[in-house]
Amino acid sequence: ERAYDSDAAVRQTDSDAALARLSAVRKGYLNDRFISSLVPRAQLQPLRPPLINIGTYVRSGAIDRLVEQWLELSKSEGQLCQIISLGAGSDTRFWRLMEGPWKEQLGAYFELDFPDVTLKKAMTVRNPRNGLSAALGASELDLGGQALHSSRYHLLPCDLRKPPADIFPGLFKDHLSPALPTLLLFECVLVYMSPEASSALIEWFVDFFSPSIQISTPGTLGGMVYEMFGLEDAFGQVMMNNLRARNVSLPGAKPYPSLESLPARFLSRGFTSAKALTLRNIRSSYIGPSELERISRLEMLDEVEELNLVLEHYAITWSVMVSSSAATVSPWN
Ligand code: SAM
Repeated sequence: ERAYDSDAAVRQTDSDAALARLSAVRKGYLNDRFISSLVPRAQLQPLRPPLINIGTYVRSGAIDRLVEQWLELSKSEGQLCQIISLGAGSDTRFWRLMEGPWKEQLGAYFELDFPDVTLKKAMTVRNPRNGLSAALGASELDLGGQALHSSRYHLLPCDLRKPPADIFPGLFKDHLSPALPTLLLFECVLVYMSPEASSALIEWFVDFFSPSIQISTPGTLGGMVYEMFGLEDAFGQVMMNNLRARNVSLPGAKPYPSLESLPARFLSRGFTSAKALTLRNIRSSYIGPSELERISRLEMLDEVEELNLVLEHYAITWSVMVSSSAATVSPWN
């Protein structure tokens, strides 16, 4: 029963992420006309505090840019790109990409999550009133409504803590090609599982893709992780206690005490380069002055110190694995 409770608490973190996104959209930080379909009673949901809105804005914008650069690289190589979002929850990225300039670059797009989450998402996506099904074209349900397949988009149910070799071959079937450039997105998910389980996930993908990385140029596998880290300090302890009170534990945060430790999750598994930045770095150095000015006018932020403390505890890590003959090719230098 305990395990069930804590899994339910982890699934619940998706509602928080979706509510934060909805709030940032309503306040004018982000554009996303799809998120309101994925949040029940969206109009009645309260707005989140400025600090959460800003954090959501910085994270979302940074990940969007990384994904676009990835798609741009595969375009320059004349290849379609695959994207796999692990613990995708209510993410709307697939639909946003399908409206943007990178649509033609997108081969298959996979979203994986717990069966309860994918069942609900599949129903929402298929409901014609929500405006999400048009981007899919023809689609069909599988596995009792927990899976959904269309020509590009695939929604797949699983517990990511199970041994990948047992579940992935049956789940991806022949929809995932080992020969196409592929980006793995772990947006706020690895922190909820043991380091052994997240290593096993990354290793499965490395094994699946590395034979073609050996022969094709650039033959790339990319990884992107967004998560909390460095929770050993006083502020980190407060964050941990808040989550513990809600029955959410963060076994995946332990091995990553510092920003410098984050790239190891990829570099130790054969990725050729990796880099990590905190949301605080990204906000202060990678957002243009006019955009910062626009954001600052959206609402009053009193807690600047607190904002910096929070943004310092979240990081985006990105990495790439390329064949040795193409060792200099990286979308995200
Ligand atoms: N990636 C989305 C985003 O950033 O908006 C959702 C993030 S949400 C905080 C974490 C998601 O990971 C939830 O949807 C949860 O159900 C999923 N998740 C966590 N552990 C999982 C596991 N062991 N197997 C499958 N999904 C998992």
